[in-house]
Amino acid sequence: MVLMRLTSSKIFKIQMTIKKINTAIYWFRNDLRLSDNPAFTLACKNTDLLLPIYINLINPAINSEPSYPQISKQRINFLHESLNDLNKRLKGLGSRLVYLAGDYLKIFQALRDELGTNLIYCEQIEAAEELKQVAQLIDSGFDVKFIWQSSMLDPQSLPFELELMPSVFTQFRLRVEKHKLKFTEPLNTPQTLPALPACEAILKQSINLDTVASDKPFYGGESKATAHVEQYFARRLVDSYKKTRNQLIGMDYSSKFSLWLALGCCSARSIAKKLLDYEHEFGANEGTYWLWFELLWRDYFRFLNLGKVVKNPQNHFSDFPSEGLGEDFRSIKFKRWSNGYTGQSFVDAGMRELLSNGYLSNRMRQIVASYWIYDLNGNWRVGEAWFRSQLLDYDVYSNQGNWQYISGAGIDHQGGRRFNITKQEQEHDPNGVYQKIWLD
Ligand code: FAD
Repeated sequence: MVLMRLTSSKIFKIQMTIKKINTAIYWFRNDLRLSDNPAFTLACKNTDLLLPIYINLINPAINSEPSYPQISKQRINFLHESLNDLNKRLKGLGSRLVYLAGDYLKIFQALRDELGTNLIYCEQIEAAEELKQVAQLIDSGFDVKFIWQSSMLDPQSLPFELELMPSVFTQFRLRVEKHKLKFTEPLNTPQTLPALPACEAILKQSINLDTVASDKPFYGGESKATAHVEQYFARRLVDSYKKTRNQLIGMDYSSKFSLWLALGCCSARSIAKKLLDYEHEFGANEGTYWLWFELLWRDYFRFLNLGKVVKNPQNHFSDFPSEGLGEDFRSIKFKRWSNGYTGQSFVDAGMRELLSNGYLSNRMRQIVASYWIYDLNGNWRVGEAWFRSQLLDYDVYSNQGNWQYISGAGIDHQGGRRFNITKQEQEHDPNGVYQKIWLD
């Protein structure tokens, strides 16, 4: 009744004074970038105060368990470089990154107590451990807004239900191509960010992100990712991509985009946009087509999981004891294979490159995986776990998808792919140059 006598401008003023300050947490996961980050952009749009955080979930107890492969130091360094860069970018826009480690549930509960909010924004990750984390947060009363954003194509745009994802890549690709599916335009970096909420206690716990630069081929972070993608197209390396992609030596034979895609330092859509712009300027060719083709493989493995067509991939070692894989990790054959001392020199060269650089060409990944599974009779999950511990570009969907593809444990019905090592060597390292680099 009283309200009826108020003018609309007075009502507006009253509404403003009683407007609740909207506070939320932005939980960075494998999306360590500000550009083309729909979940982060949405959080910025919807909140007055926003706390950007990253939680290091590498379980130190499991990572120091001697039976299991340790997450390599260089993988952790790459992560820290990426976080460092993200922090700088956030600071440039008046915010910052809070970097925490430990039990995520306890961390979020402490944040809720201090900030007085249960609202969390984050990206959606369709892997067992990450799904469990979100489910536990929801069970504990958090309001988790998660957004799928790691693929090149929008899953909503597919011409079939995700549950009906074709079990063969070619069928998937042909349907995508028939419907001329394209990515959605990437988003720009938000120009202004919500202010940080007052949170003295949390800021004190934030781990220092200053990293020491060292001499190595790959550095993490959105800035490096952007510069790397730029130079790749500026030097027109894509034109020869189809011809060179199976080579083994150097930076330029393949794009190396995977390194930054894995932690989300750049988005697949932003690469696809660069590729399309490139085609408009210089014309499409077999190189540009093949890069798109490979990025589509990446989407394929993602959508198989998003549609729950394959069993959710595992991101952590916690399930291994129950599967009895501890024994396998302790076996001599695993030690020889993983350290590059099987006696098969081509395979050994590959395994030493992986150990040394945290990277391996697609061709060598196929060869060493096949050797582990078929020549050494190894369990594919063990090989997969070794890659997970070492690869700077470790990606739960692509790693599991490729290991399953080679081992035949996946959904395609061809029963795996065995590579003839001698033939591969003759074709890809006929003069032993690659082996000389890694075995000498
Ligand atoms: P490019 O040849 O330049 O390809 C361009 C992009 O296409 C890549 O960055 C990647 O995003 C995508 N792509 C290319 N090949 C594949 C493929 N076979 N499957 C999925 N996506 C692909 N890739 C990862 O990103 N993370 C992994 O953990 C991973 N584990 C693998 C394990 C095995 C056993 C095998 C055989 C392959 C694995 N791959 C993985 C796929 C592939 O080897 C790498 O993506 C590629 O070698 C990365 O180098 P690049 O960026 O120069 O690739």
